Amino acid sequence: MNTIGHLINGKTVSPGARVQPVFNPATGTTSAQVAMADAALVGEAVAAAQAAYPAWRDTPPLKRARIMFQFKYLLEQNIEKIAAMVTAEHGKVTSDAIGEVGRGIENVEYACGIPELLKGEFTRNVGPTIDSWSDFQPLGVVAGITPFNFPAMVPLWMYPAAIACGNTFVLKPSERDPSSALFVAELLHQAGLPDGVLNVVNGDKDAVDALLTDDRVQAVSFVGSTPVAESIYQTGTQQGKRVQALGGAKNHAVVMPDADIDNAVNALMGAAFGSCGERCMAISVVVAVGDETADAVVEGLKTSLAGLRVGPGTSPDSEMGPLITAQHEKKVRDYIEIGLEEGASLVADGRALKVSGHDGGYFLGGCLFDHVTPSMRIYQEEIFGPVLCVLRAASLQEAMSLIDDHEYGNGTCIFTRDGEVARYFSDNIKVGMVGVNVPLPVPVAYHSFGGWKRSLFGDLHAYGPDSVRFYTKRKTITQRWPESDVTEKAQYAFPHSNG
Ligand code: NAD
Repeated sequence: MNTIGHLINGKTVSPGARVQPVFNPATGTTSAQVAMADAALVGEAVAAAQAAYPAWRDTPPLKRARIMFQFKYLLEQNIEKIAAMVTAEHGKVTSDAIGEVGRGIENVEYACGIPELLKGEFTRNVGPTIDSWSDFQPLGVVAGITPFNFPAMVPLWMYPAAIACGNTFVLKPSERDPSSALFVAELLHQAGLPDGVLNVVNGDKDAVDALLTDDRVQAVSFVGSTPVAESIYQTGTQQGKRVQALGGAKNHAVVMPDADIDNAVNALMGAAFGSCGERCMAISVVVAVGDETADAVVEGLKTSLAGLRVGPGTSPDSEMGPLITAQHEKKVRDYIEIGLEEGASLVADGRALKVSGHDGGYFLGGCLFDHVTPSMRIYQEEIFGPVLCVLRAASLQEAMSLIDDHEYGNGTCIFTRDGEVARYFSDNIKVGMVGVNVPLPVPVAYHSFGGWKRSLFGDLHAYGPDSVRFYTKRKTITQRWPESDVTEKAQYAFPHSNG
């Protein structure tokens, strides 16, 4: 059986005693086993990153960028291979996996511009013969901890920018689908990255705890569920580290009475059921304004769900693949029971779905609950599966209050033809990423990604301009070269521009 090890100091490291199975979610069979790093091995990875740091920090940004250009080329050459690895371990359909890798490559393209991005700020003559400038210097060793649902893309949100800024990196990918992250890291080495600049350790909480308590790690980027994000933010910041921890979500789509209902329904299908609902930007709640709107949306979704093609991600016919693991499938099925007990109407029930020839796969058909209310657990909690909840609101204001009162604030969108409504919604809603007739408003690589409220702990968002700020520390230098050799008197007043 294939055993997935670690990548430390440019070399593949074989697993130690502890390993864990990796499953093919479409069949339920074990496809590989992954090594689980202990604290000592994580320490070796951090030591390798620490040793590589001085030379990498001093490598000119243009040279670092050239490695990123070559990395982009290799990623493009291997996009189908990487997507196949994602599909095999995550389960998402091939076209979706290709989209994921494509978005990852866009982050590498952003990192290719690092000489421009690191230029700093300069002001001549802030005072007589005094110039001042701000430099953005790397932090040192940085760690990244990533979730299962975008195993290739989310690591690429982090280390291309971090490394391009001059840091060295230790990545701890999800143990549930680890192959693509390891392979992509190998490609970066093929692109010319010096050994030790990027290290990959596989594992679980033990590996994460070792990273969080290692004094040599200066900063941590985390993406995953909210309880883990919050605990990582607390532990990491208590240890004096800079931390950004992106968490879970419950993303609402508001459908106004004037919306183009057919297009809204098609957009909702992709946003709710794409990747089996396992996206942090998935739409999991529809708030229909007015009963007539709600009836039309529910009818449209019901019809579309009856035709949703569920099957293995490798089949070109499949629109939706399986869930990630048997445990996760059980969790999602339990939520459907909870919704029924809470009194919501299950108008589309995917529980009986069978995929021929894939009896052991973790499949669940698309499910739709109508008449969901704010007090229900299926509304309050992140289900992370193909389950869409419809709530009915009497007005835009009521719909917006629901969203504002929800603990999560990752993404949201509104379907409307009214520009004034769209502008009011975008200006006032308490959510970090907003779409207007765009169901998955995931910012492009040259903007930054992040939610509000309990969807993000920390100040700076992921990738884009915020990543350059997160992975660097500002140093401001004020420099004076007097024009003549005059001895000046001591000045006891605080220097200011009127002086
Ligand atoms: P998860 O929180 O279970 O795991 C994320 C990472 O943390 C993994 O590498 C895992 O090994 C590690 N981990 C798990 N439990 C830990 C613990 N107790 N202590 C320390 N480390 C631990 O998340 P997941 O199930 O892999 O991913 C799905 C979640 O991620 C969803 O909640 C989803 O919304 C969220 N997510 C958020 C974003 C975002 O940008 N906000 C993006 C993708 C996924």
